[in-house]
Amino acid sequence: MATKKKKIDLLKQLALKFCVWFCVLLVALEGCFALGIISSSPSKALMSLFGANAINENSEFLLFLDVGQGDCTIIKSKNATAIIDFGLTDEDDTIYRKMLELGIDRVDLAVITHHHNDHFGGFNNLIQNIKIDNLLINKSSAPDSQQQELNRLLQVANQSKVNIIEPKIGTCFNIGDAKLKVLYTDLSANKENNRSIITMLYMGGKKILLTGDAESTVEKHISQTIDIDCDILKVGHHGSYTSTTERLLNAATPTVAIVSVGYDNIYKHPSDWALLRLKYAGVNLYRTDLDGDIYIKFSSNNTFSVIRG
Ligand SMILES: [Zn+2]
Repeated sequence: MATKKKKIDLLKQLALKFCVWFCVLLVALEGCFALGIISSSPSKALMSLFGANAINENSEFLLFLDVGQGDCTIIKSKNATAIIDFGLTDEDDTIYRKMLELGIDRVDLAVITHHHNDHFGGFNNLIQNIKIDNLLINKSSAPDSQQQELNRLLQVANQSKVNIIEPKIGTCFNIGDAKLKVLYTDLSANKENNRSIITMLYMGGKKILLTGDAESTVEKHISQTIDIDCDILKVGHHGSYTSTTERLLNAATPTVAIVSVGYDNIYKHPSDWALLRLKYAGVNLYRTDLDGDIYIKFSSNNTFSVIRG
């Protein structure tokens, strides 16, 4: 009888131990998800690039991601993230992998500047992995060749419960401590490039002008009618000769410019003409085809530094 009681006591003790360990495991796993430890964290490589402990959930930086022949700009301020354009395609998950490396697991605001697939191509792929809350996009028709792709994108965005916002000139979006203002967009333009959503980003006490693929006609208009004075220029249309006019450079007066462009691309971007105009304007130029990922890191004393990733 005593032996039977001993066995029951032993079983009870084992069951209790199992319950305790199981609960500890559950709490640990839940903690990891809540902290984002399992999903993502800044990589060691990135931390060494920025300096130890310089990149965390409160970091403020701008990244021109090397996506080949296309555009992709990531804005990170405090705990908020925005992304402007998504490259041509993202079959190799370049954008998603970079997001993980940066410790980003959701996007507050996505912007598609215009309906060319070197700007929206990677959207459908990224949204399979990352929650996107809002999408700023002109919903009106795309060029015939890209209408189907645009319809599919809007369908995917709707299925993923993305809030779609149509641009209005003057609208301002808060991204942590940064602000993104819609400066201009012209839906009546004949060329898709000239319908680009043009924005000014206010970040770290600096102004960054992003013109999508807008060409000289639009550059002339905004130079004459809008304050486009900036510190950093995201060079329009991948450095094509049709953009980065002298008129624009005189009005914008950037000290730094970034060209997002694929190495040895078939369009011969950036053009010699655009490069020459930037040179004469005395602008420090960085190119994703030669420099890879380009980070702008902001400091508390209203200065910034350019870091090649
Ligand atoms: Zn483009």
